[in-house]
Amino acid sequence: RKWWSSLRNGLSRVSRAPAGYRAIHRRYDVIVVGGGHAGTEAAAAAARVGAETLLVTQKIDTIGALSCNPSLGGVGKGQLVREVDALDGLCGRAGDRAGIHFSVLNRSKGPAVWGPRAQLDRQRYRDFIQAELLATPRLEVMEGSVEELLVEEEVDPERPGRHRVTGIRLAGHTPPLEASSVILTTGTFLSGFLFLGQTSSPGGRIGDPPSSSGLSRTLKETLGLQVGRLRTGTPPRILKDSVDLTLATLHPPDQHPTPFSFLNTHTHCKPEEQLPCYLVRTTPGVDRVVMESLDDNSHIQQDTKGPRYCPSIESRVLRFPGRSHQVWLEPEGMTSNLLYPQGLSMTMPPDMQLRLLRQIPALHRVEISTPGYGVQYDYVCPTQLCPSLQVKTTQGLFLAGQINGTTGYEEAAAQGLWAGVNAARSALAAPLLALSRTESYIGVLIDDLVTRGVTEPYRMFTSRAEFRTLLRPDNADLRLTLKGFEEVGCVSAQRYNEAVRVKEGLEEAFATLGSLSRSPRDWRKTLETSSISQSKGGTLTATELLQYNDITYDDLAAALPESLAPFLEFSQRLKIEAVYRPHCELQKKEIQRIQREEGMYLSPDLDYLSLPVSLSNEVREILDRVRPTTLGAATRLPGMTPAAIVHLLNFVTQKN
Ligand code: FAD
Repeated sequence: RKWWSSLRNGLSRVSRAPAGYRAIHRRYDVIVVGGGHAGTEAAAAAARVGAETLLVTQKIDTIGALSCNPSLGGVGKGQLVREVDALDGLCGRAGDRAGIHFSVLNRSKGPAVWGPRAQLDRQRYRDFIQAELLATPRLEVMEGSVEELLVEEEVDPERPGRHRVTGIRLAGHTPPLEASSVILTTGTFLSGFLFLGQTSSPGGRIGDPPSSSGLSRTLKETLGLQVGRLRTGTPPRILKDSVDLTLATLHPPDQHPTPFSFLNTHTHCKPEEQLPCYLVRTTPGVDRVVMESLDDNSHIQQDTKGPRYCPSIESRVLRFPGRSHQVWLEPEGMTSNLLYPQGLSMTMPPDMQLRLLRQIPALHRVEISTPGYGVQYDYVCPTQLCPSLQVKTTQGLFLAGQINGTTGYEEAAAQGLWAGVNAARSALAAPLLALSRTESYIGVLIDDLVTRGVTEPYRMFTSRAEFRTLLRPDNADLRLTLKGFEEVGCVSAQRYNEAVRVKEGLEEAFATLGSLSRSPRDWRKTLETSSISQSKGGTLTATELLQYNDITYDDLAAALPESLAPFLEFSQRLKIEAVYRPHCELQKKEIQRIQREEGMYLSPDLDYLSLPVSLSNEVREILDRVRPTTLGAATRLPGMTPAAIVHLLNFVTQKN
């Protein structure tokens, strides 16, 4: 009862704008609504681009809060963090400051799909983000709840139903705040409802009220936007000292933590200070409690779609009865006595949550600090957005984060940064920009959202990126930092200069490696290795040698220190680049070929349904239905990927 009443008290607390956090001006270039992962990146990016920016959020002290899991990165998500960092965003550096357990996931696969990940100390993460925002020039931060979005109808008979954003109104009858651009990043708060057992109550997150209904009304009724409903849930937090860790499998961190940020060579946490995670498994007793709890669990009875890749324990048991599931016990902070049981998100009543947990041997005496709960919220169908993340029919209104149907901090941060860039550019009368699928995971994410939409919470995977060997975590700076400074305007000169130094260093290193050419026999002698085949004739360059699995750059530099030692700081990057270079060159040529062949005529009687099986049915059906007249028109069809276009191009060329 205590837990539920504290939850309800939190919800009924009225948002306020205390002295000291009142807006200093009444007019801004950009106003960002919401201080979660999307909103903080959006506000910082808009200010970096040069816009006078205001961030309004319900509570200053929840800025940068990790609503659910205390971790950042992972497979696909780690790539997003590296790209946000390459564009001078905050989350990578915050992760390096707050990380307490670093590990690179997917190490058994190629480095293109490695997933940098860290467990975080919640408080340190928040502190870092708040300090960064408060120190950002041209950015004001204000506590308050936005009650209404102010818009004007555009008088243009050619384009009826279009609007222009003019500002926001806060709760409490304060005068309106004007802005050229507004970014909504309301996360799980828009018409949010919390679920625990059979009880439900308005809320965006435990302890926080939902976003005002006025905001939803403007989006739905005034702007006519199509809005859907999604859900998610979080596990109970448990007391570490009530867990029998001797019955759990220890999972140590990497011995050498890999920082997220290109600006950092070390993480704040020393390697030996990192905390371990633990692995336990569910038992048949867990299934039994889930089945007994179903009638008392209104969240699970709803049809609303939840995150498929982060399902609740109820959904896992219902889908795979009798199976034992992994549960990771993750530390919540350096000095915290709380553990986060990843894999046990649940919404049954608290007494049943306790019974369920105690079915796991290591948790037989466990105590709960806060119960798990679920949240259902409105999202705006993202096909109504442009690739800039501006709403197609409303000039100056941008949306980012969970409001667009995504799930996860990294997806929110990536969209926030890009919406911040474009909202600032719109306010400063600069052209809006899009990132392509061929240059970044951020481009893949936004393209998927705006062209395909979502039917369930969207999360990033490396398999979503057709050109993933090009879009590696190691080269995000070369892909984005230079562009971020030269074309976008969101990257500092200091970061740009560092990226230029790295780029020139790598080019010089590859020129040197390419100039070191010997017969395989000579290389065998120089490197004292037998791994270079005896039968191989001709000569080999040092770049080609680096493509051998068991030859590292350090091996080459030890044998030829005069030429190669100057580039030792890039040794891992040189190895990865050398391995992927031939494949990436092919992919780049394919991309250029598509660009060259934009005008290629596509006959109206093409039999799209007989296109190679490597093309998805969805793509074949789109082509069959629309029958584009040129290759360029096909590339612009919603749902069409660059890989699909390559197949189409090959198919048409072979036919001709
Ligand atoms: P949020 O981080 O939710 O931030 C929204 C911000 O907007 C808040 O600061 C809020 O106070 C503010 N705000 C809202 N309305 C207003 C207003 N009208 N005026 C002023 N400020 C406003 N992610 C996963 O990847 N996996 C999971 O399993 C998962 N489970 C979750 C379970 C729960 C219960 C919750 C609450 C979240 C969960 N998440 C999960 C989601 C994760 O928290 C989000 O993906 C991420 O935080 C989204 O970031 P955001 O910036 O879009 O929104």
